[in-house]
Amino acid sequence: KAGVPQQTHAVDSLCPFCGVGCQVTYHVKEDRIVRVEGRDGPANDSRLCVKGRYGFDYVHHPERLTQPLVRREDAPKQAHRDWTAQSAMAQFRPATWDEVLEKIGQQFKGILAKHGNQSLAGFGSAKCSNEEAYLFQKLVRTGFGNHHVDHCTRLCHASSVAALLEGLGSGAVSNPVKDAMKAEVIVVIGANPTVNHPVGATWMKNAVADGAKLIVMDPRQSDLTRIATHHIQFKPDTDVALLNAMLNVIVSENLVDHAFVARRTEGYDAFIKNLTPFTPEAMAPVCGIDADTIRQIARMYATSKASIIFWGMGVSQHIHGTDNARCLIALALLTGQIGRPGTGLHPLRGQNNVQGASDAGLIPMMFPDYQKVSDAKAKAFFEEYWNCELSDKPGLTVVEIMKAIEDKQIRGMYIMGENPAMSDPDAEHARESLASLDFLLVQDIFMTETAALADIVLPASAFAEKTGSFTNTDRTVQMARAALPLPGDARQDLWIIQQVAKAIGLNWKAQTVAEVFDEMRMCMPEIRGITWERLEREDAVTYPCTFEGDTGHPVVFTETFPTPSGKGKLVPASLVHADELPDEDYPIVLMTGRQLEHWHTGSMTRRSAVLDALEPVPVVQMHPEDLNKLGVKAGDVVEMASRRGAIQAYARQDAAVQPGTVFMAFCYAEGAINKLTNPALDPFGKIPELKFCAVRISASKAE
Ligand code: SF4
Repeated sequence: KAGVPQQTHAVDSLCPFCGVGCQVTYHVKEDRIVRVEGRDGPANDSRLCVKGRYGFDYVHHPERLTQPLVRREDAPKQAHRDWTAQSAMAQFRPATWDEVLEKIGQQFKGILAKHGNQSLAGFGSAKCSNEEAYLFQKLVRTGFGNHHVDHCTRLCHASSVAALLEGLGSGAVSNPVKDAMKAEVIVVIGANPTVNHPVGATWMKNAVADGAKLIVMDPRQSDLTRIATHHIQFKPDTDVALLNAMLNVIVSENLVDHAFVARRTEGYDAFIKNLTPFTPEAMAPVCGIDADTIRQIARMYATSKASIIFWGMGVSQHIHGTDNARCLIALALLTGQIGRPGTGLHPLRGQNNVQGASDAGLIPMMFPDYQKVSDAKAKAFFEEYWNCELSDKPGLTVVEIMKAIEDKQIRGMYIMGENPAMSDPDAEHARESLASLDFLLVQDIFMTETAALADIVLPASAFAEKTGSFTNTDRTVQMARAALPLPGDARQDLWIIQQVAKAIGLNWKAQTVAEVFDEMRMCMPEIRGITWERLEREDAVTYPCTFEGDTGHPVVFTETFPTPSGKGKLVPASLVHADELPDEDYPIVLMTGRQLEHWHTGSMTRRSAVLDALEPVPVVQMHPEDLNKLGVKAGDVVEMASRRGAIQAYARQDAAVQPGTVFMAFCYAEGAINKLTNPALDPFGKIPELKFCAVRISASKAE
């Protein structure tokens, strides 16, 4: 009423962005979020970064999808056009839920009947809840009849997980981020936590202020290098040379924890034999770090009372990503720096629920809880649990699915909340593949670059509109609560998945989110002890939590590893260079990643007023020497091209990158850097080499 102050109400939930998993309180007035406050969660102690504090208004953006959309007959799909959300909307007409669900059923069932059960695939999302991820993979496995289901984990830590499963029997972190506060030595390699896990980085900064030593190993400088004891600015793609040289020092100087190695590891003899040629002297010219420095950091790491390693996609997004992670695992195993507070291995998870989505089975080779689809016992269990027949053949991964579309094996796709037209390497090729599908169903909150290639687009729920559980990088399962009603005719993702399942003929009973969680936990031993009621009450429980009453375990591997022998495996790594090295035509190395103000493909943060005002245009970070060489000034528009495509961006002078290398974030549709990146894959994790490809840069003629 006029003159009467409107009341706000508070809803306790989570931040929707990164894997740190900060707990927040949304303050809501008249169905709009007006303020976000940090809560006293286990990962954040009330701290928030700029995204968590100011990046919420995308939920109210006028471009939210509010009704189902069907492609107009006179609007053919155009892969090579850069759509804006508004121009893409003109290709569609509004429809009712009844109409679209009938069409979806006809299309998917028609493709299955004509092309068989290898012809459909699905991408779920690491931004959706555990319950949504679980139902989505169940739909693909039981409804499409194959395991062609994946999500963006394939683009971030697939190689880390491959190495961790092989070496330690578990793909999750050993210790929480906050254990940095208990470490004497912190190693951060191939990660930029102040940008990508900002609240996590605050624990590292606090630890350094309290006397911990910080070793940052990265081809680029970052904010953390300012407080680091050592910044090891090695040449891009030479991780194995550097890490094996450190391991060589640990062995040759007898810094090995022999008691730990004897009791808890296997493969030692073959492992140390492989290290022989990797002396610091031999590797110094390869990685660009002098032998004495390699020795110093190896000693620091090995001899401290507690050393912890954090890593990011600078380690994983290479064709040798699995080898890089094998070396990190070996560092911890050889020195016994694992299984205690303040030690261990922590691959920093990117998206808010990439850990939970993977746990829930949103990956092509594993059922929920990492039970292999090729394992007869696991297959028999899920056949009985889901009352269906299942294949024992692992499915295709993200990039493999794009290739299978080109080969006309995959004919139809269901994509929920992912934007491969922006996030996949060689994005023009990915867009061509998506546009060539007989039928593409996209479920999202905005008209993304992927939705612009769809036949049907379904309006979904934004984070602040849904209740569900999410698992952060620390393995902590946390409760998010709906704070807002859905706009227009948008629907809950969980409801939509159930309706699509019904449309393709699956006989599922309608389930609430709590019922889905209950179904999940009964087939996932690691979270069996977490009941929905407990989550509602406690807000956060860290798995493994195997029985009701189990307090949960932030630190794991204290006595054994979950491998068949109970021992950790030392796996030798060889030096393999990047798939595409610079040459005369393409002399510069391009590395891609994220920036503080934007999130992944930008579909949310570029519609957040504060964040977009801070970083409104695509920029490429270039060393001053390279700008001079090209005769380009900071702020000029440059053209950047690889063998796969070209884009334009503004040049930003930044001495944080090495001469001959450039860095660009992949959030800008108008400068979609993944048009340039290389789809070559790591053979184990099937992760593309997003951290290294050859490009050339010139002053833009268009300016
Ligand atoms: Fe959100 Fe991550 Fe920032 Fe925390 S650190 S507020 S989870 S983006």
